[in-house]
Amino acid sequence: MLARYLLHQLAEKFDNETESRTMSEKVTRTTCPYCGVGCGLVATRDAHGGVVLEGDPEHPANRGQLCSKGAALEQTLDLEGRLLHPMVEGRRTDWDSALDRVAQGFREVIGRHGPDAVAFYLSGQLLTEDYYVANKLMKGYIGSANIDTNSRLCMSSTVVGHKRAFGSDTVPCCYEDLERAKLIVLVGSNAAWCHPILYRRVAQAKQEHPDLHVVVIDPRRTPTCDIADLHLPLRPGSDATLFNGLLVYLERQGERNDPFLEHATEGWYQALNVARATAPSLESVAALCGLAEPVLAEFYRLFARTERVVTLYSQGVNQSSSGSDRVSAILNCHLFTGRVGRPGMGPFSLTGQPNAMGGREVGGLANQLTAHMELADPQHRELVQRFWGSPRMAERPGLMALDLFRAIERGEIKALWIMATNPAVSLPDSNRIHAALRNCSLVVVSDCVADTDTTRFAHVLLPAAAWGEKDGTVTNSERRISRQRRFLPPAGEARPDWWIICEVARRMGFRNGFDYPSGAAIFREYAALSGFENGGERDFDISGLAQLDETEYDRLQPIQWPVYRPGQGTPRMFARGRFFTPSGKARLIPVEPRLPRNIPDQEYPLVLNTGRLRDQWHTMTRTGKAPRLTEHSPEPTALIHPGNARELGIADGLLVTISSRWGEAVVRARISDAQRRGSLFVPMHWNDRFASLGRINAVVNPDSDPLSGQPEFKHTPVRMAVYEPSWHGFLISRQRLDLSTASYWVVAKGDGYYHYEIAGEEPPADWPAWARRLLCSGHGADWVEYLDRSRHCYRGVRMVKGRVESCIFIAPGTELPARSWLAGLFTRETLSDAERRGLLLGKSPAGEREIGHIVCACFSVGVNTLTEAIRSQGLSSVEEIGSLLKAGTGCGSCIPELKALLA
Ligand code: SF4
Repeated sequence: MLARYLLHQLAEKFDNETESRTMSEKVTRTTCPYCGVGCGLVATRDAHGGVVLEGDPEHPANRGQLCSKGAALEQTLDLEGRLLHPMVEGRRTDWDSALDRVAQGFREVIGRHGPDAVAFYLSGQLLTEDYYVANKLMKGYIGSANIDTNSRLCMSSTVVGHKRAFGSDTVPCCYEDLERAKLIVLVGSNAAWCHPILYRRVAQAKQEHPDLHVVVIDPRRTPTCDIADLHLPLRPGSDATLFNGLLVYLERQGERNDPFLEHATEGWYQALNVARATAPSLESVAALCGLAEPVLAEFYRLFARTERVVTLYSQGVNQSSSGSDRVSAILNCHLFTGRVGRPGMGPFSLTGQPNAMGGREVGGLANQLTAHMELADPQHRELVQRFWGSPRMAERPGLMALDLFRAIERGEIKALWIMATNPAVSLPDSNRIHAALRNCSLVVVSDCVADTDTTRFAHVLLPAAAWGEKDGTVTNSERRISRQRRFLPPAGEARPDWWIICEVARRMGFRNGFDYPSGAAIFREYAALSGFENGGERDFDISGLAQLDETEYDRLQPIQWPVYRPGQGTPRMFARGRFFTPSGKARLIPVEPRLPRNIPDQEYPLVLNTGRLRDQWHTMTRTGKAPRLTEHSPEPTALIHPGNARELGIADGLLVTISSRWGEAVVRARISDAQRRGSLFVPMHWNDRFASLGRINAVVNPDSDPLSGQPEFKHTPVRMAVYEPSWHGFLISRQRLDLSTASYWVVAKGDGYYHYEIAGEEPPADWPAWARRLLCSGHGADWVEYLDRSRHCYRGVRMVKGRVESCIFIAPGTELPARSWLAGLFTRETLSDAERRGLLLGKSPAGEREIGHIVCACFSVGVNTLTEAIRSQGLSSVEEIGSLLKAGTGCGSCIPELKALLA
């Protein structure tokens, strides 16, 4: 209700500001703010001031489809938790004071300690225009390259791999290649959950072309395996050996493309020799990768005999201390066979964030310059400085993310500006990141969210416009630039990031370089720079867009770079076999597979792998607000193989401690034979705002790839043990609560309530008094309670005027009532007598079955409802489930799980 009301107020203000707009202009085409697929959305403001969001049928990335996260965006638009005003040292202030404080703080540090004593840490959530001016300010005006981005955590190994092979950070393929391929190999990618719309395009293509084969290479049997003809559950960290083995196999099978190698590449002989030495035979590769020989042989056969192969890869390849080499090992196989630059083939990296690609393009990484130019290249530095007319230029690459925070820890960087990201959660060894931030004398955070793990360290908070309020461009995984358009006015005093950066720049004395009237003006300058003295030597050239006026910019249609002429994009690169190296030839790189530096031992015998869930995004600041999304996985869990669980005495549903040499976390154990023996999977999303002990990056090791600086999120040696609190429980409340008296708590937002799972090491002396304090018992509340003091069993329900306000259930073990019937009562204003009687039992008096954990987020269909229907109605297909229960007929993200239940 609140969300709708506030949206209504915002919409009225927006209308007043834009009185001349017609009704038809209330329909806005924009792009999804989550993953790198870059789906188009249509936002329609309804007559009541609300917003309806749907997939854009005209956007080439998604053609109208949305995944569960995109489909629930409406639930994230309200103002709950928004940062609405500038704050300095915890007190509200005005924009002038806050901006002056930032500019003065940075000026003072630079004056005393030089330009390398300040840093910016950016985000793939920023728009290209924001990124461009931040990069310009740091590199061309402050004169340091201490500007890095959370894209470092996502795809920087691919950047190194691309540049080594192609001489440029160029993605050769486009999405259409997925429909034209005959073999799609997914490596280290759970696309079904992390890039769902692309996954669905592959699934659809496979349905329409039964001769399309799909191979999944992943230590885990993920939902992506649902469409796989072959799954290779390789040993974690052995990817480079697997692809070196493939290179050797391709040579033996006569698949070497000699004409292409001769005319378009160099280094193939050296790469092959190293592959031969490190992966000499099928048997040795199978042993090193922990795979059955026939399965490996089948994959090699498929790859060798299929001309049109697309290798889709993602964080499972990149997030490694040898990520750059793994990327090179994949690229080598495509170059060796000449399978690049033609329809239906090529290596294809999937980016994690909506504008990770845009950040790479503008030079958001510490070692890059704008428009894919190199900071290490003096000619590029001179060219960019001349184009900008800037007073100086950074002379050497800056510090990459982990090194940057180490420099803060050592006190070398004294002023840090973090924009639109949450490094206190997302960086590995995160307790050390907390210590670094605590130690920094000036922390500025611009964000749209008021309370994150990172904003708690901020001296200055700057309210940034949120997704629906921002105007600019983003680039998706296939190099497609799309417009993100605002359909809501900025909330409170929020301002676009580019405006905030330019205001600080002007106050630092750089008025001339930052006097932009609009985001469109920034884009024009950026586009012009990309073509400036280019002459075809640099891949990134969008000079065909440099003359767009405001209206043309507003109407810009999705287009793939390079763009040399207006309206003419480039779907596929390298069609002529010419690359951006000095010789014009692609390079095959010799790859010597390396084991991770931190390997399991007796003390820490398991390997921790972290990653994304289907319905959550990054640190949950947005998806954590959407009840539809929290229901799929309301609590952080660790997936563990049944064999490991048996050895450790861990039962499904118990709380467990995961410890490493760097830290520990407590999550709930889930036993799964989809997990490879010896390895655990824990989601990356939970943080101190949503769980007391669920921040898994406190456990993750801080090792990184020496070339790309990308951290090793997929391989931390850990141990696991049962966490044994003296009591367990859950509570459901209409209000968000302070749970600091419970040692373990996790909160999930439901529809009109907050659901907490809790546990404690010491039981309170007086349960009813404890519950009353916790649940803020005011006047006029009725309590229904049950207490067995000797067993520490307590149940309490707080009612106000016949409505349930909160309920709490405590027991010594995990045997507690199911939650969904009780949670459903929070949508009701009154209860029947029978329902009141059922309250303390936690059970429906009518004997309704608990629906169980939610599988289909669109229609809230739970696992118990599904299994019951499958059994009792003899359902045997996803279509039959859909017609009976609607599950799977909305966004379709749950289809792999429906198939798993049917199986
Ligand atoms: Fe958004 Fe889902 Fe599309 Fe990714 S696949 S851009 S999360 S709708």
